[in-house]
Amino acid sequence: MSMARTKCTDRVVGAILASWRYDISGLYPEMRKDYEQHFAECSHCRARQHFHRSLDVTLAVLTSLSVLSFLFALAVLKHIKPLEHMAFNILGLDVGSMYQMLVSAAVAGLCFSIIAFVLVLTATPAPSYLGGIAAERAKLLEEHLPAAIRSFRSR
Ligand SMILES: [Zn+2]
Repeated sequence: MSMARTKCTDRVVGAILASWRYDISGLYPEMRKDYEQHFAECSHCRARQHFHRSLDVTLAVLTSLSVLSFLFALAVLKHIKPLEHMAFNILGLDVGSMYQMLVSAAVAGLCFSIIAFVLVLTATPAPSYLGGIAAERAKLLEEHLPAAIRSFRSR
């Protein structure tokens, strides 16, 4: 079933959930119950919830990769620095201003991607969602550990 073809079973609850981007992790447990019930009953909202959480995780991954790539660019530029003087002395080129421009661009890019990353982490439930995935993985690993290692660990 595609997301467009399914219909919400309760339009009022569906509209509320949509305004929260289908994130109920910030609600009190007693308030959460009704919405959890709705997610259990309504495949439309369940699909939407899954879509939005995947989107959050994708944004978190993309912005963190962006931070890393700008850090990498700055590291590369730092190593190019000695070449700048060489090019100036040998070829008489003014690469200094170009170098400064590249560094400024990389610093600006780094700042913007850090802000974007922080925004994604604070404005979306991505951290708790990723934390949940990590905890699940750890549990799965624990279950698959050989009995010998497990008995060693429990000592
Ligand atoms: Zn629904």
